[in-house]
Amino acid sequence: MSEAIDYRNLHTTGAITITGVSKSFGKHKALDNVSLALAPGSVTVILGPSGSGKSTLLRTINHLERVDEGFIQIDGEYIGYQRRGDKLYELKERAILRQRINVGYVFQNFNLFPHLTVLENLIEAPVAHRQLTRRAAIDRAGELLDVVGLRHKADAWPRHLSGGQQQRIAIARALMLNPRVMLFDEPTSALDPELVGEVLDVIKKLARSGTTLVVVTHEVGFAREVADNVVFMVDGRIVEQGSGSQVLNQPRHERTKRFLARVL
Ligand code: ADP
Ligand code: MG
Repeated sequence: MSEAIDYRNLHTTGAITITGVSKSFGKHKALDNVSLALAPGSVTVILGPSGSGKSTLLRTINHLERVDEGFIQIDGEYIGYQRRGDKLYELKERAILRQRINVGYVFQNFNLFPHLTVLENLIEAPVAHRQLTRRAAIDRAGELLDVVGLRHKADAWPRHLSGGQQQRIAIARALMLNPRVMLFDEPTSALDPELVGEVLDVIKKLARSGTTLVVVTHEVGFAREVADNVVFMVDGRIVEQGSGSQVLNQPRHERTKRFLARVL
């Protein structure tokens, strides 16, 4: 992968503020009064056992999940809501979709469209939603395929790519509309071990480019290398947060210690 990348188009710097967010599914409290302040350009890694609410937290940042209490802001703008006086009113679907343009989302299972080539996967949404002309989308896609080192695969079909390549394409696709923040939900969990590194390398490049990243992952080595903040969740709560070295080298909470002992 070439390192000589022009990042000026990746103006993805967004402050994320999560304030007192709770979310229940039936009687089960998946998020319990979660607050977090993430600086523009920062890299946050969220760790925690399965079922601790990591995915739910990411989904609330995008208003894919409606919060029961609290609120989320990106660059001061309420996500999913509009403030009038001291009340928040839920936005209409169109306005919510417009906000989602600012948030790139990468899932565990790539989710590329199997019937579209790599290039078509990248340009589909921006062109369909009239965010970019076809010409501009193709240019942008070329730049991003360079960022992920896969320009030579522009005309390939997803099924002919390795899992690692597919995930790198999914990352490029998420960057097409210059999101202010990028959310990754276990982006390497579905990959064979030998393919994990190439995907983490792309995310590390984004980290160095000043993009605000929130990454749910069990890759503690990655967290140690690139995270400004490490957040450890248990049962819908943040039990510990701090710098990578603090949380990973000197965990204070018993659950964090046990978790790290298991994954290291
Ligand atoms: P994690 O990503 O840390 O594994 P999740 O955020 O996926 O955890 O889930 C947190 C808890 O909320 C789990 O107990 C899960 O079963 C529950 N949960 C998540 N999404 C839903 C849903 N749509 N309906 C019901 N329960 C859910
Ligand atoms: Mg999850």
